[in-house]
Amino acid sequence: MVINGQIIRSDRTFDVINPATETTVAACPECSSEQLEMAIGAAHQAFGDWQKNQAKRKKALIGCARAVKSQMRDLAELLTREQGKPRRNALHEVSGVVHWFQQTAGMKTPVDVIQDDDHGKVEVRRKPLGVIGAITPWNYPLILAVWKIAPALLAGNTIVLKPSPYTPLSTLKLGEILQEVLPPGVLNVVSGGDELGAQIVTHPDIRKISLTGSIATGKAVAAASASDLKRLVLELGGNDAAIVLPDVDVKAIAESLFWGAFENSGQVCQAIKRLYVHESIHEDLVTELSAFAQSVKVGNGMEGGIQLGPINNRPQFERVISLVDDARSRGAKIATGGSPIAGPGFFYPPTLVTDITDDAPLVAEEQFGPALPILPFDNVEDAIARANATHYGLSGSIWTQDIKRGAEWASQLECGTAWVNQHNTFHPDAPVGGVKWSGIGYQNGRWGLEALCSLQTVHLPPHQDSVSSA
Ligand code: NAD
Repeated sequence: MVINGQIIRSDRTFDVINPATETTVAACPECSSEQLEMAIGAAHQAFGDWQKNQAKRKKALIGCARAVKSQMRDLAELLTREQGKPRRNALHEVSGVVHWFQQTAGMKTPVDVIQDDDHGKVEVRRKPLGVIGAITPWNYPLILAVWKIAPALLAGNTIVLKPSPYTPLSTLKLGEILQEVLPPGVLNVVSGGDELGAQIVTHPDIRKISLTGSIATGKAVAAASASDLKRLVLELGGNDAAIVLPDVDVKAIAESLFWGAFENSGQVCQAIKRLYVHESIHEDLVTELSAFAQSVKVGNGMEGGIQLGPINNRPQFERVISLVDDARSRGAKIATGGSPIAGPGFFYPPTLVTDITDDAPLVAEEQFGPALPILPFDNVEDAIARANATHYGLSGSIWTQDIKRGAEWASQLECGTAWVNQHNTFHPDAPVGGVKWSGIGYQNGRWGLEALCSLQTVHLPPHQDSVSSA
């Protein structure tokens, strides 16, 4: 682990399993309560100086980008071994880390001037919050960590970061690499299970929790942090709907739709998790998607040419198996896939399920794996109502040749991100966040940066220079 700039071992460890082979990648340190105290204490101590100089922090972020760039291949390999994604995709995730540090280094916490006249001057400035507790999941361990690290550091906060126990190794390695650049205590990375996350959430010296994870964890974190009125950013689960109108060219969109649902073996918060297709093209689209699914190479991500890796861990693997089995037992049809691939490894083929109703768990709940229900509709208003009839609200998409109407329908989706003729695309300056149970607060862009600051209103006599932002 990385605590106060030092590499720290622990008396206790837990095994991290390679999901492609079910062998142990490494024994990972399990952070003790004393070590967590050290990490939070170090972050608290480091905050004193770190908050003072934004120019220095910008320079440090550029240094972080450079440091990660020099170790991209090693980081990507470790990511594949513990997460399962193909090496090419792992490399893409690490490139995203480099890009995010560079991009964030170009940002600035603004000072807003509300009034500046003969009666006085009123400014609103942003101040860092203190120590941020950052908690991440196992699907994109590195990019989701850097979405928290980069803006938190730019704003002048310090961090204690806890990755998922399924994928802690690449994040620990990232923390180690960044120590070349960051002062001791500014970024601490500790590893352990859910209980360690719970200890972070209730610690009095943590000012804000930034969690990416499931809705159940988000609710537990919100409840546990209430007694201390901790600030929260919760980026939680989704059950995104894509709605396909009858005017599309089925052949032309099938591949994009497929990857919108199956990227990272469906383990993407904003993946298409329910596909509503106009009844007139339903059969054709299922045929196209099935053909494409059967052409995709599933296997160990360390091997060349693999497009989809395994499901990351056994509980998730079993969940996907049981959701599809349940659908089958309700009379649903399996257009392709539908059974796990013989082991070792948590391999499940891309699976398309038809003749299923909206109340089946595979449709109503987040599957977070490579199994997609496809449901017909006859009018778009109904499809939008069905897409919205859920506690989830992360994102959604409309597919049509009528872009103008598509944009109107997209705006009727109750979610944080809506797309037309695409799904799962990001812009580094655009906020990511959910409505309803999919989350509270935003990450990325100026909104994400502001979420890691508090506002301070400063009233001054007339004709003063601006208060500079640290
Ligand atoms: P999870 O909620 O099980 O775990 C996420 C993290 O929270 C882990 O580090 C875990 O150890 C920690 N944790 C668990 N219980 C805790 C508690 N009581 N207090 C504090 N920390 C606790 O989620 P997961 O299975 O790792 O990830 C999959 C979920 O994450 C899916 O629902 C997915 O949609 C969601 N996700 C959301 C986004 C987004 O941006 N909205 C992005 C990626 C993943």
